[in-house]
Amino acid sequence: TQDRVFNFSAGPSVLPEEVLLKASNEMLSYGNSGMSVMEMSHRSKDFLSIIESAESHMRSLMKIPDNYKVLFLQGGASLQFSMIPMNLFIKHKKADFIDTGAWSTKAIKEAKIYGEANVLATSKEQVYSYIPKLDSSSFSNDVDYFHITVNNTIYGTRYTPENIPNTGSIPLVADMSSNILSEAYDINKFSLIYAGAQKNIGPAGLTVVIIKDDLIGKAMDSTPTILDYKTHVDNDSLYNTPPCYSIYICKLVLEWILGQGGVKGIEQINKYKSNLLYSYLDESNLFKGTVVKEDRSLMNIPFITGNDELDALFIKEATSKGFVNLKGHRSVGGMRASIYNAMPVDGVQKLIALMKEFEVNHK
Ligand code: PMP
Repeated sequence: TQDRVFNFSAGPSVLPEEVLLKASNEMLSYGNSGMSVMEMSHRSKDFLSIIESAESHMRSLMKIPDNYKVLFLQGGASLQFSMIPMNLFIKHKKADFIDTGAWSTKAIKEAKIYGEANVLATSKEQVYSYIPKLDSSSFSNDVDYFHITVNNTIYGTRYTPENIPNTGSIPLVADMSSNILSEAYDINKFSLIYAGAQKNIGPAGLTVVIIKDDLIGKAMDSTPTILDYKTHVDNDSLYNTPPCYSIYICKLVLEWILGQGGVKGIEQINKYKSNLLYSYLDESNLFKGTVVKEDRSLMNIPFITGNDELDALFIKEATSKGFVNLKGHRSVGGMRASIYNAMPVDGVQKLIALMKEFEVNHK
């Protein structure tokens, strides 16, 4: 539609056009309310029905068992870096971490404020181009949790569903900000999953936390009321005014995913899209992927030409043709195509066509 670009931004990022159109149709009056969702009380019947639907869609899409709570919070994934140790440093005040990039590093930094953070493995020496292989015999028994970043937005790596570490009785905590709802993970392997909304869930301002019952209500004494998960569990995520509009868009996005065949349906599309791009990168004489094959992300695909000037030229040409936000993170350089759930297959196919054309012109 009118003047829309192919937006490869890492986040906030592309949303399904159907969702934007629906929201625009409902902008002035939601249902029969005569007002926008932005204007209504978070305790109104209309809004309560929105947040209840969002939760029930999330539960059915991710197959979340009853002994997990789903919370709609604020503060981004970054606030979870603090809330998690405040609430989960119950016994040992210690956690194991795998360092797979900048977001893991930030989570580690915050945990250290409240206790001990052991880094069991890191791929830093190879610019985080792979997920470290883990030997479960190196896992500690005397930690309160084990933390991983499931999809590494900047470097383009991910733990596949088969590769999620088995931490036994130690609660596994997972940052899924950049790949939640993109493929099926078994929730039972995790005790806490968190995600900032602004990639696969909806607009910024909303953070989704999925937490197992047995971790709730044990926060450190010094935990502020609003940072205690129990506060939000006891108040159905309505302790204070929630990010109402972001939750409404989240509900629409989840309905859109249901319409794509749920997570299994969208997973097939995501595998198809990412395979198209990876296959091209593997055969191209100009563009190369930067991540080891088995750990490649379905969502964030970094690539380079090996020549900074050519990279800059490609980004410039792409931008002028409506393929925007392809510049890679400064620590990796080159390009990064973020192809979240809402990126249409067409966008990836056209990007590849553009890359092929550029390759022919710059042999
Ligand atoms: N974790 C990951 C994997 C991310 O990609 C991001 C943001 N891009 C964050 C955490 C931080 O999220 P927020 O900006 O919502 O605090």
